[in-house]
Amino acid sequence: MTTESQQRTAATDESGAPASERRPRQRRNAPRVVELPSTLSVKRLSELTGISSIDTIKQLMRNGIMASMNQIIDYEIGALVASAFGVRTRPEQETGESGSTATETVATVDPDKLVHRPPVVTILGHVDHGKTTLLDTIRRSRVALGEVGQITQHIGAYQVEYNGQKITFLDTPGHEAFTAIRARGASVTDIAILVVAADDGVMPQTVEALDHAKAAEVPIIVAINKMDRPDSDPDRVKRQLGEQGLVFEDWGGDIISVPMSAVQGDGIEELLENLLLVAEIADLKADPDRNASGVVVEAKLDRNRGPLATLLVQSGTLRVGDYIVAGSCYGRVRALSNDMGKRVSEAPPAFPVELMGFSSLPEAGDPFETVPDERTARSLAESREREREDGRSAARALTLEELQTRIDSGETKELNLVIKADVQGSVEAVVASLERLNDEKARVRILHAGSGSVTDSDILLAAASDAIVIGFSTTTQQGVDRLAEREGVEIRYYDIIYHLVEDIEKALQGILEATQREVIVGHAEVRAIFSIGRRGQNIAGCMVTDGRINRNAMVRVLRRGANVFEATVSSLRHFKDEVNEMNAGFECGIGIANYNEFEEGDVLETYRMEKGRA
Ligand code: GDP
Repeated sequence: MTTESQQRTAATDESGAPASERRPRQRRNAPRVVELPSTLSVKRLSELTGISSIDTIKQLMRNGIMASMNQIIDYEIGALVASAFGVRTRPEQETGESGSTATETVATVDPDKLVHRPPVVTILGHVDHGKTTLLDTIRRSRVALGEVGQITQHIGAYQVEYNGQKITFLDTPGHEAFTAIRARGASVTDIAILVVAADDGVMPQTVEALDHAKAAEVPIIVAINKMDRPDSDPDRVKRQLGEQGLVFEDWGGDIISVPMSAVQGDGIEELLENLLLVAEIADLKADPDRNASGVVVEAKLDRNRGPLATLLVQSGTLRVGDYIVAGSCYGRVRALSNDMGKRVSEAPPAFPVELMGFSSLPEAGDPFETVPDERTARSLAESREREREDGRSAARALTLEELQTRIDSGETKELNLVIKADVQGSVEAVVASLERLNDEKARVRILHAGSGSVTDSDILLAAASDAIVIGFSTTTQQGVDRLAEREGVEIRYYDIIYHLVEDIEKALQGILEATQREVIVGHAEVRAIFSIGRRGQNIAGCMVTDGRINRNAMVRVLRRGANVFEATVSSLRHFKDEVNEMNAGFECGIGIANYNEFEEGDVLETYRMEKGRA
C-alpha cells in the first residue's frame, strides 16, 4: 500500500469526521446489519463492514489471529470482529454471486510458492530527533524479548523478533541513504518510521524525509519521540504533519502514530506491534525456493577476510557455495554470518547476512543475484563493467526534453520536479505558479520543495524518481553538480519566475524546443605518422588514452589544446584489420578524410551530439 493511497483512502472516508467520533455514533444510532459470506478475505470483511483495514487487522490480532489482507477467514471470525465495532452481521444466503467472490479471493490467495516474509524498515527524520537511539533501543530490546546473551554486530542491518514475527531494520538511518539506494534502482524498504521529537516538532529535514518516503510510495509510521521531555507536545506534531498531508488514524486517516521515548524504552513494543500490523496490510511475500536476489546494503574491506558485504535477500535463498554477482563484482559465497556474528548456512528473504567471498568490493545499493556457475558470474560481471564504463559518458540524462517526449507519447502524465528556491516565500510562489499549469493531459508532481541551495539529497531524490531539479534564485552546494552529472539528473536554474513557468508549460504541452549537447566519447594520442596508399593518405599511429574511438565518429584534432581541424574518422585500423571501435589502452591507426597534417603529440578527440542539456 502506498502513502498516497493511504491518504486517498483517508480523504474519501465517509463523513470526514474523526474516526473517534464516527464509530461511537455508528454504534448508538445506526445498528447496521451486514451480510457476510461463509468465508471471506480480511479485505472483503473490511469493505463490507466499513471498518478500516487497520482496525480490522488490529481486532483480529486482539483475538490472537495474525491475518493479512488476503487471508481467508470464516463467518464466525468476521462476525466477531464486526461486533466489536457495533456492526451486526448475519450469514449471507448462499447465492452464486457470493460464492464467486469467495472463490475469486481464494484463487488470488493461492500463493503458489509465495510465503510471507518479514518487513524491512528504515528510520527517517530530522537530525537529533532520536533515530540512532531508537535503532539502538530496538536492537537492545532483543535481550528483553528473550534473545539473551548475544552481542549484536554492526553489519548494516539487523533483525528482531516480536510476537513470533521477525522485523528487519536497516541500520543506516536518514533519507539520504534510503534514497541513494533507490537512485541505484533498488527498493529495499517496506515501511518507513518517521521519527519526530515531541518537544521540537516538525523540522525542515522531517519534511524532506517525509517527501522522500512519499516519493518512494512507502507506508509511513510516525514515532513521536522524546515524550519524556517536559515540553513535549504530540498534538502539535500531528497538526504540523497534518499540514504536510498526513491524516492520522484518530482523525479518520490511515497513518499510525506511536508516542514513545527511545531513551526510556517506552512505546517500543507498541511501535513493533504497529510495524507488524502495517506489514500485514502490505502483505509482503517472497518465493524462498528460487535463486537468491536482493540488494547490497553495506560493503567494506576487511584486512583479514577481504571484501565483506552485507546483503539483504529479497527473493530466493542465499546459500554457502552459491556463485554470486553484485553490480560488476562477482564471487562465490565462502561464508555467511548473521547480525550476531554467527555463521549461518543460508539466508532466506529479508534476512540480512554478511557475506565473505566477493573478489572485489561491491557498492551499497548494488543489486545482486546468484547464478549457476563461475563462468556465468564472471561474464555477467564483466559485461556490467563494460556497460558501466560506457554509461559513464552517456549518463541517463533525464532532461526536461525527455520528460516532455514521455508525456507526448502518453508514457507518463506527470512531470516530476524537485524545487529549491532562495527563500520560503519564493518556494511558495514557484509551487503555486507551477500547480496552476496542471491539466488533463499532464500535470506537475512536486516531490519536494524547500528553501536553500540544491543538495545531494535533492539530486538523489530526482534520480530515484525520474525528476528534474529546479533551482530558483539559488545555487548548488559544492560537489552537487558532479553528482548530478553522474546520476544523469538535470538541474535547471531560473531567476525569473515567468521563464520557469513558460518552460514547464511548454514541456507539458510538448512544444519545448530540444537542445543539443556534445558528449565527449574518447581521446587518442598521436605517437607516429605513416603514409599509405598511392595517394599518400596520412594515418596517425595512436594510443587510445580514454573512452573509445569509433569509425565514422566526429573527431577534432587538438594541438597544444587548440582545435586545428574537425571532421570524421574515416579509417580505423588495429594492425592490418579495419575495425569499428577501439577502447582505451589499445594502439590503432586513425585516418581522417582529407587530412594529412597530423603531428606527433596531437590529441584526437571524438564526440557525439545528443538531445538534452545545452
Ligand atoms: P539522530 O540524529 O536522529 O540519530 O538522534 P540521536 O539518536 O543521536 O539522538 C539525539 C539526542 O537526543 C541524543 O542526545 C539522545 O540521547 C537524545 N534522545 C533520543 N531519544 C530521546 C528520548 O526519547 N528522550 C530524550 N529525553 N532524549 C532522547
